[in-house]
Amino acid sequence: MMFDLIIIGAGPAGITASVYAARKKMTLLVITRDIGGQAAWSGDIENYTGYQFITGPELASKFEEHMRKYGIELRENEQVLELKRKNEAVWVKTDKGTYEGKTAIIASGKRSRELGVPGEREFKNRGLTYCATCDGPLFAGKDVAVIGGGNSALDATLQLIRIAKHIYLIDIAPELTGDLVMREKVGESSKVTILNSTRVTAVLGERMVSGIKIRREDKEETLAVEGVFVEIGLIPNSEFAKDLEKNRLGEIKVNSYNGTNIPGIFAAGDVTDVPEKQIIVAAGEGAKAALSAFRYLAQHK
Ligand SMILES: Cc1cc2nc3c(=O)[nH]c(=O)nc-3n(C[C@H](O)[C@H](O)[C@H](O)COP(=O)(O)OP(=O)(O)OC[C@H]3O[C@@H](n4cnc5c(N)ncnc54)[C@H](O)[C@@H]3O)c2cc1C
Repeated sequence: MMFDLIIIGAGPAGITASVYAARKKMTLLVITRDIGGQAAWSGDIENYTGYQFITGPELASKFEEHMRKYGIELRENEQVLELKRKNEAVWVKTDKGTYEGKTAIIASGKRSRELGVPGEREFKNRGLTYCATCDGPLFAGKDVAVIGGGNSALDATLQLIRIAKHIYLIDIAPELTGDLVMREKVGESSKVTILNSTRVTAVLGERMVSGIKIRREDKEETLAVEGVFVEIGLIPNSEFAKDLEKNRLGEIKVNSYNGTNIPGIFAAGDVTDVPEKQIIVAAGEGAKAALSAFRYLAQHK
């Protein structure tokens, strides 16, 4: 079957695009690894208009409910491996099949950057994690380390203050760079020790994490922790879109209509070079992308 639109990703951008497309009665397929994307990993959200406070998982489940209301065809737990324009259509290859659409929206967001130190891969899910919202509760009453100094690291630290015994916030930069409101909240907690200008050089343990090696002021030390939360930034999930123009960070370049360098292929949200990476921005961009795809179809009947 040839769909009017194939959407890749079901985070805030992809879900919003799907709702707009469904309401335009476009034939539609959403292919995604998961539902909610990074929004489902966020802790407390206080900046999505209409909700003075909502948790990430709650907001993600409201998005999902909204999408499901339209009975949209959804392929979950499926990974897009390749996307190209072929004979006037967009061809999408996944780990489970191939699909064709007249248009596509790439809303595949971002994933966590890895530390790249010995022990990281070995202890993944054995004390080392990239998601404080998902795994934080496993570390109740334990000493843990959060690696990073931006908003993600501060968000993880704020979540862990309620759960862990003590948190070492380890930042390679001389000062934390996240939002002032979050920096202030973290600074007020007696449960947090901030180690600036500090590099993690290894993750240690036997079966589970028992510590990390850090280097500060040219000295190597070992810190005993049972949990390591890696929060050092994000990488765009754009590798499968080989023919699309990207910036130096790998973000897909879009114009103000969410068009890419290839006609009929649009992109929205964190995977693009649109400056602010926020849920409300991604949702708005998803809406714009769906309306642009609709207009493109009308013009190319
Ligand atoms: C810890 C944390 C806290 C945050 N807190 C806030 C906050 O308080 N307020 C705020 O506004 N923003 C916050 N953000 C940012 C916000 O979550 C993102 O800006 C937003 O989720 C981006 O939406 P998106 O739809 O573009 O991408 P994502 O949310 O990244 O969703 C991408 C989707 O694409 C899917 N996907 C990826 N690759 C493929 C592939 N190859 N094949 C198929 N599917 C694929 C994923 O499974 C996912 O469903 C936070 C982010 C993090 C990490």
